[in-house]
Amino acid sequence: MSGNIEDFFQCFEISCQGATSITTFACFLCDKIEPALCRAVYERTAKDIAEDMQGKFPDFQGNRANLEVCILRYLAEEENFEYFKIQSYCSDESRGLEKFLDSSLNHLYRKILSAVSLATQIVKVRKDREDKVSLWLDEFCRELSEVISLPRSDLKGIEHQEVTDIEFLSSVMVEALGDVRDRLKKEFAGADLSSFSRQPQTTLAEHFSGCWAQCPFCGAVCTNTMWNRIGDHQVVFHRPRALMGTMWDGTDHLVTDICSSLVTTNLRFRFDNGKWIRYKRYRDAGPPYSTWNIPPDPSRQAYWKWFVCHFRTELEALYNGKFQGKGEIPEAWRRITKQEALSELDKC
Ligand SMILES: [Zn+2]
Ligand SMILES: [Zn+2]
Repeated sequence: MSGNIEDFFQCFEISCQGATSITTFACFLCDKIEPALCRAVYERTAKDIAEDMQGKFPDFQGNRANLEVCILRYLAEEENFEYFKIQSYCSDESRGLEKFLDSSLNHLYRKILSAVSLATQIVKVRKDREDKVSLWLDEFCRELSEVISLPRSDLKGIEHQEVTDIEFLSSVMVEALGDVRDRLKKEFAGADLSSFSRQPQTTLAEHFSGCWAQCPFCGAVCTNTMWNRIGDHQVVFHRPRALMGTMWDGTDHLVTDICSSLVTTNLRFRFDNGKWIRYKRYRDAGPPYSTWNIPPDPSRQAYWKWFVCHFRTELEALYNGKFQGKGEIPEAWRRITKQEALSELDKC
């Protein structure tokens, strides 16, 4: 379905106004362009951010199985907590996200301007054509087909405009498009990741095949290379539950315990809105817990223990919690060196 009742009346109004209605024509067209441009900016930005992340983590281009190890190594080597979460990566002080959005907007805006100019040139050459506006719209939409989604069929209502001065139409369009850009720029200044219909990390994830299920306790991503309905999800490096912001019930004390240790204990966790079960029997809690194989494994924990000690302040700030009380970081963790953490990754 193209257009709605409002469109119909606006088109009718434009026809009645005749040749003086170029401004209304440009408004109508820009009203169609604005939401399409906005969507295109978000899509392009998601891709840009994913590519930028790939540049920072060279092995994002490589083997999925090594991906996690590479990210962990990078985090430790750079000692840059910002990369722990793409969220913080995008919303750092330099307003990284806004910069990405602005650069996408400018890129697409320039493409639209050049489509205006190209369509205008073509119409000027084709002196034989009476239906100048219809031809202009044909060329404009065709030129934009790769840039934004602007179906030519949505513009049928305005194609019978009598416009003799196509240069004037072009200059009115350029001005109206400038307003569109300014409005979107303002909107993007307040954007965060929730504004995306497709998250950058989803785009990033698509560069890799494989399973992206997250451990229900610690959020570590399954390292199976295939979606496998029969096999259990698994991951080598489970992490302290604090990495997901989990706190001890009724306190702001972050949970330092690691899933691969918790599953040997009689401690309980809450699931399904208030039921409690022992970690030992986590599979009995049903999905998603039952779809994970979490073997008791006190080895392979040095990295995340070091991480929690090293980024303690940042984690406390991120989750508004404290490593206190039950969440006190064990003394032994503090003796783990960065070298020990990194060499654990080398064993993989
Ligand atoms: Zn886990
Ligand atoms: Zn899996």
